[in-house]
Amino acid sequence: MNKPISVAIDGPSAAGKSTIAKRVAAILGFTYIDTGAMYRAFTYAVIKKGLNPEDEAASCSIIPEVSIDLLDDGRVLCNGEDVTKAIREPLVSSNVSYIASYKDIRLALVDMQRAMSQSKSVVMDGRDIGTYVLPNAEVKIYQIASTEARAQRRYKENVEKGIPTSMQDVIDNLTKRDYIDSHRAFAPLRPAEDSVQLDTSAMTIEEVVDAVLKIIEDKTGVKACR
Ligand code: C5P
Repeated sequence: MNKPISVAIDGPSAAGKSTIAKRVAAILGFTYIDTGAMYRAFTYAVIKKGLNPEDEAASCSIIPEVSIDLLDDGRVLCNGEDVTKAIREPLVSSNVSYIASYKDIRLALVDMQRAMSQSKSVVMDGRDIGTYVLPNAEVKIYQIASTEARAQRRYKENVEKGIPTSMQDVIDNLTKRDYIDSHRAFAPLRPAEDSVQLDTSAMTIEEVVDAVLKIIEDKTGVKACR
């Protein structure tokens, strides 16, 4: 069997990472791992327990009792409950960056992320995949887009999913999360030195997918059969 390949896609909120990662994984037959969904699911568990996500000690106290599963069909389970839709709600979005700044929670989730990529080829998206979770990933991409492009995409996505938000709420949430994510002490959002930066502001989804497939082929020799 060939050695598994890891593709890391990092970047700020709503830069389109998950859309691209999902499609590229499907084309190559790799497993897609949405690490943001794991931080969101943990945030959901903290809120459900009636704890304050801004309280680090309280949030970390439930680490032993939280189990998170990413199913092959894209569903996310938290302690067996299907939270796929709930983790996209504004209450989770506005609190997830606090939870993601707590080192003990990160260490617990990073262990799971590393285990998931050990025996199979993966496309993993997040904030610290190339810098911390999989520093030896064969391919590292840092995907960015203008704040305007990101806000428009996320707003459209929310409307399609029936999540009530205004454009201003979306911009405020992205800006706040990017600030907290890039200023936290442990494993902050930043490009890995050996990453390829991709500005997708003026690109279509198909163009970004093609660009990512080309980077993967150049770095690993793995060619998409389409
Ligand atoms: O990718 P998504 O926007 O769903 O991620 C939600 C939040 O989870 C991010 O704003 C960030 O705070 C956190 N996150 C992280 N590290 C990752 C993935 C997500 O800190 N690898």
